[in-house]
Amino acid sequence: MSMINGFTSEDADRLSDKEKRLVERRARLLGPAYRLFYEHPLHTVRGEGVWLYDEQGRRYLDAYNNVASVGHCHPRVVEAISRQAGQLNTHTRYLQEGMLDYAEQLLGTFPEYLERVMFTCTGSEANDLALRIAKQFTGGTGVIITRFAYHGVTGDIAELSPSLGPSMVLPPHVRTVRAPDAYRLGADQVASTFVADVRAAIDDLRKHGIRPAAILLDGIFASDGVFAGPTGCIAEGIALAQAEGLLYIADEVQSGFARTGLNMWGFQRHDVRPDLLTLGKPMGNGHPIAGLVGRAQVVDHFGQNMRYFNTFGGNPVSCAAGQAVLDVIRDEQLQQRSHTLGECLLTGLRELAERYPIIGDVRGAGMFLGVELVTDRATKAPAATQTRQVVNAMREQGVLISAAGPLENVLKIRPLLAFEQEHAHLLLEAVGTALEGLQP
Ligand code: PMP
Repeated sequence: MSMINGFTSEDADRLSDKEKRLVERRARLLGPAYRLFYEHPLHTVRGEGVWLYDEQGRRYLDAYNNVASVGHCHPRVVEAISRQAGQLNTHTRYLQEGMLDYAEQLLGTFPEYLERVMFTCTGSEANDLALRIAKQFTGGTGVIITRFAYHGVTGDIAELSPSLGPSMVLPPHVRTVRAPDAYRLGADQVASTFVADVRAAIDDLRKHGIRPAAILLDGIFASDGVFAGPTGCIAEGIALAQAEGLLYIADEVQSGFARTGLNMWGFQRHDVRPDLLTLGKPMGNGHPIAGLVGRAQVVDHFGQNMRYFNTFGGNPVSCAAGQAVLDVIRDEQLQQRSHTLGECLLTGLRELAERYPIIGDVRGAGMFLGVELVTDRATKAPAATQTRQVVNAMREQGVLISAAGPLENVLKIRPLLAFEQEHAHLLLEAVGTALEGLQP
């Protein structure tokens, strides 16, 4: 069976001639590193609110994209970008009020002890910068991450992203800990396992003559399989790491900007005090703005010894986009909506779990949900094939989700924050229909 970009010739049979041509052009122009979603890939041409549209005008409910989080092409964000683009777009080496207003308001969403913000264009760059800052501050190089982490694409950060694939071999200065997987470890074991793993990682780094610099953790452990709790379960492990001189970098690229419910930031569910936080994805609702927030002592230590200039990071158009996103989150009460609809989805998914034994676990916070599928609830054997089938069947029904986790058996459901109750119902209906259609 021939493969193009991960597609078998069988998959290719269901594509229209035009779709086949696009798939072939992609493969020829971009090479094999780029992967498409779905057995029948989606040719998107337009987005509006919670919907994506294909060339035939068919609409798809977006329960996956954590970038255009406040809604595709949200008019206020589009207007802010075009207004600023028509007025001025330079960089951060001139005095500009827009950037400072935005910086102030962004910092206002964090606890007061976090006093500095720096801008980048991507989450990867933000993590890369955070790591440089942590190394400078601590004089160390060792980093602790979770076993199936994803933190980005720069050279240093790809080395902290084992979920990139088996050829991403961890370098000697990196140690891994288990994610707080309450389903497989048991809810009462999560906190103690995490502390023990952090202790072992620090000890092992030191044993090998490596001074630890940081522990870097995704606020919802998305690539590890979406683990939202129990609330506070990582607090003791983080406190231990900080007492040992490591900086705690909270990667909020996935869990930030109201994604996890009432809290604006994912770390707030865990009673922890990050030294640095990295932000991205929904920050500009599709416009590439990202950044980091941190303690003044830490950020200033870096800046006193090193200048920082990022040509596009924090430019006036990016800051206008970021400002509009903050305004929309506030004015449309998206934190409240993320919480309320997230709870409604959790309840609906748990009801489905009563009907379908293939659902081993339902978890999440706010509008970030994970549904783990298993072929046997007793052994928790992963149902990866069925997970893929559900994702593809839902796409055929016009609802977009994806899958995550090292065992590829967790439905990753991340509805746009612009969802209304009716959209939550459509989503739940589609999950139910896809589960019903699984072959026994
Ligand atoms: N951290 C996390 C947790 C992410 O999920 C991602 C992107 N998926 C990144 C960092 C990197 O962000 P970017 O793609 O903007 O570089």
